[in-house]
Amino acid sequence: MGMMQDYIEEAERDLLHTYNRYQVVFDHGEGVQLYDLEGKEYLDFVSGIGVFALGYGVKEYNDALKAQIDKILHTSNYYYNVPAIEAAKGIKKISGMDRVFFTNSGAEAVEGAIKAARKYAYLKDGSTDHEIIAMEHSFHGRTFGALSVTGNEKYRAPFEPMIGNIRFAKYNDIESVKALVNDKTCAVILETVQGEGGIRPADEAFLKEIRKICDERDMLLILDEIQCGMGRTGSYYAWQRYGVKPDIMTSAKALGCGVPVGAFMMTEKVGQNSLVAGDHGTTYGGNPLAGAAICSVLKLFEEKDIPGNAAKVGAYLFEKLDELAAEKADIKEHRGTGLMQCLEFDHPVADIINKALEKGLVLINAGTDIIRFLPPLVISESDVDRMTAILRECL
Ligand SMILES: *Cc1c(COP(=O)(O)O)cnc(C)c1O
Repeated sequence: MGMMQDYIEEAERDLLHTYNRYQVVFDHGEGVQLYDLEGKEYLDFVSGIGVFALGYGVKEYNDALKAQIDKILHTSNYYYNVPAIEAAKGIKKISGMDRVFFTNSGAEAVEGAIKAARKYAYLKDGSTDHEIIAMEHSFHGRTFGALSVTGNEKYRAPFEPMIGNIRFAKYNDIESVKALVNDKTCAVILETVQGEGGIRPADEAFLKEIRKICDERDMLLILDEIQCGMGRTGSYYAWQRYGVKPDIMTSAKALGCGVPVGAFMMTEKVGQNSLVAGDHGTTYGGNPLAGAAICSVLKLFEEKDIPGNAAKVGAYLFEKLDELAAEKADIKEHRGTGLMQCLEFDHPVADIINKALEKGLVLINAGTDIIRFLPPLVISESDVDRMTAILRECL
């Protein structure tokens, strides 16, 4: 453990301690396998928290990035660049949305979505006291706007005051949403499938009813698809399986498959009635490298039918985790859809995750009692079998 332990000690000395990190330094990857500095092999069921959907070491993707680096990395959003134009076209095609704004991260996409919603309401009545309804147990990121709509008191408390006029409803409880709606409400923001908060898919009736309320009152529906999007639940975006289209949506994580990119998208109606020149901007967002990454991801997703694989192998994973949940009395619940699933235990799961890591399986928690399964979307049924075999040993 010599070299790896030395790096870990350096990291603990030099990096701000905002993460309780697992005691491993990953060095490289191949397919769905990760390798640490000492060459030990791991089966990856986290994909960098839903990022590396294509798996590691995909030559075509790597080559596309290298080619763009040799050409030009960055210009500015004051000029046009072809990779961003192509990326926007591709995103419009998979999402059915009309206007795209590129960001560097998920949180920034949420920030932009909130600004667009507030501006839309401001243009209607000129007032600045509009309210946004968000959900308990949600997660939208760590910047102030995104944190303000994150339904986790623990994350928000030390940093108050948040941005104002955010109200929290109970996820999948339509009456709790209706109770908060008033003339000042300009938007509802939620994850189509809650991720960090414990892998909870929205009920179809809940989502449809919110859509209806938004339509009746000209409020905007913002769906955060940063974790559940990009094929993970079996369609490009999870809302497509519900037939409930948002007015504004966010995408990140697997959108770049490793290059830090995000985006918020909107319908033409919102696009024509919200942010204009001078309202919003970014230095890096949608630069040529980011654009090239998105273009390559979209091309490979289509060629390999990544969403189709997520649906197929996701169904298999569902069966296998159901079996495990039936065997083990300490598993309270198995939830999720596609390749976004979880097991909720009646005790903390840190020991299980550490044991799995020792045995060469990478898993991640969601809160203290939940193990989350977010594998690369290219995994096969035999990878699922390998995972469940190791996990069973750890339980
Ligand atoms: C990860 C995540 C974010 C934040 O994305 P960052 O890139 O970490 O800023 C926002 N919303 C959801 C649903 C996420 O899973």
